[in-house]
Amino acid sequence: MNRILIVEDEERIASFVAKGLKAEGFTATVVGDGVTGLDYAVTGEFDLVVLDIGLPGMDGFAVLDRLKVERPALPVIVLTARDSVTDTVAALEGGAADYMAKPFTFGELIARVRLRLRAQGEPAPVDELTAGDVRLDLRRRRAFVADREVELSARELTLAEVLLRNRGLVMSREQLLSQVWGYDFDPGSNVVDVYVGYLRKKLGAGLVTTVRGLGYRVDA
Ligand code: CA
Repeated sequence: MNRILIVEDEERIASFVAKGLKAEGFTATVVGDGVTGLDYAVTGEFDLVVLDIGLPGMDGFAVLDRLKVERPALPVIVLTARDSVTDTVAALEGGAADYMAKPFTFGELIARVRLRLRAQGEPAPVDELTAGDVRLDLRRRRAFVADREVELSARELTLAEVLLRNRGLVMSREQLLSQVWGYDFDPGSNVVDVYVGYLRKKLGAGLVTTVRGLGYRVDA
């Protein structure tokens, strides 16, 4: 099991990331300031750090500088505001860090986390998912029905991917919203239902089963 340290003072984002990681089988520890974050990160008890830049006390750049010296091999994913991406990229040069611009979806983050951990010896993930005659090529981000390519939008493809990865399990609207649309989405929205409709139209009416009152499932 991989242990992830989340250094983020914005509670909403910290809990969104922690919950998502736990649901994926990781251990997640949250701290809300840079000094504590650095203390925890150097203990050697974590496999990866998700590090916000704007932090009280000591900012993410300062934490990163110290980690480069004390734990150079520890993978770090930096969370940064979209308008400071240029500064962030400059600050990351040469380190073990990668970045994500806010707002990001959980799907993007988990892909990045897996990628960084894999570089540390995790098994390679699947690059193809199938259900009936539907096939998703995750590497090329393409979808096929009976070997005929079907055009899906990026969001439709991510939704199909999440449903197929969890084949046999009921996925609630809330789980799908957080994994496909991210934390900036209104939980009262019916966007999940609308997109499931798109998938049924494009990939076949029988692909996704509605489980009344609970959510959606792709049968195993
Ligand atoms: Ca912050």
